[in-house]
Amino acid sequence: MTEPGNKGVVGFIGLGLMGREMVRNLLKAGHAVRAYDVVAAAIDTAVADGATAAASVAEAADGADFVITMLPDTPQVEEVVLGPGGLLEHPPVGRLIADMSTISPQAVQRMHEVLRARGIGFLDAPVSGGTAGAKAGTLSIMVGGEAADFARAQPYFAVMGSTITHLGDSGAGQTVKLCNQLVVALNLQAVSEAIALGRAAGLDLDRMRTVLLGGSASSWMLNRLGPAMIAGDASAGFRIDLMFKDLRLVQELAQGLSVPLPGTALVTTQYVAARAHGEGANGNQALFRVYDRMTNQRRD
Ligand code: NAD
Repeated sequence: MTEPGNKGVVGFIGLGLMGREMVRNLLKAGHAVRAYDVVAAAIDTAVADGATAAASVAEAADGADFVITMLPDTPQVEEVVLGPGGLLEHPPVGRLIADMSTISPQAVQRMHEVLRARGIGFLDAPVSGGTAGAKAGTLSIMVGGEAADFARAQPYFAVMGSTITHLGDSGAGQTVKLCNQLVVALNLQAVSEAIALGRAAGLDLDRMRTVLLGGSASSWMLNRLGPAMIAGDASAGFRIDLMFKDLRLVQELAQGLSVPLPGTALVTTQYVAARAHGEGANGNQALFRVYDRMTNQRRD
């Protein structure tokens, strides 16, 4: 266990687009990081940045004060936490875990109960802000779980994010994140439609974006992803596949609570179309290509 005054040791599992940037910020802040991913090249990148390679989940947790998981979806987190050789069997010495992926709130609550029974703290701490926010250390971090666990994790979260909020009991962080994704997806649909309409009308889209950003149509999507959409750049960031997964989680939650979400249903269909057109691995902004096809304005 780390001596008081020393920086804690972090076991980090999941070194993809987000995880690799979050690891960099933990290293820059002076934490030792034990890095694990199923893809060896991802571990190599983290080691080049200053992390120590871990050959398994158990090795990442070994000697760590705190373990963070940043994985694609619920099944991967359940496997790493509850599966054979996972964190339930090999908890970090500090007995604290935060899952920062976006996964099912119901699954979070089930894992929380199992871990709690063994005296292991478990926080759901999904993030918003994209790869740019991960790189800059300015993520918005939405946390559910015990207040005492949140207090212990706070110094680590502060290295990766700038808006860090404890939202309530286990699952509350994921529930807020799903509300966040609903807003993000519907806004991206609105921006895609406006760009498709403006293009069909022969407008100067850069000038249109600038003027929209100056008024009540301004949004993060238009600001950050608008230029790529206008330029026809679908390259990876937050993948279409991951947003599709998030919209599935939104619908599961809403159906369980008998809350109809017609706008979400509509935008989910657009993501189905994007995946059917082979856009799954492209960035979220590739939604514009669905509109390019619908309006016969394909640029590729
Ligand atoms: P990613 O696919 O780039 O990274 C996931 C990593 O997990 C990969 O390196 C993969 O090899 C690894 N992995 C998969 N299964 C594993 C296992 N069993 N053990 C160890 N490693 C395993 O995804 P990402 O973009 O970094 O997103 C991670 C999570 O964060 C997702 O839940 C996503 O929805 C969420 N998120 C992403 C963004 C974004 O902009 N990319 C923003 C906010 C939230």
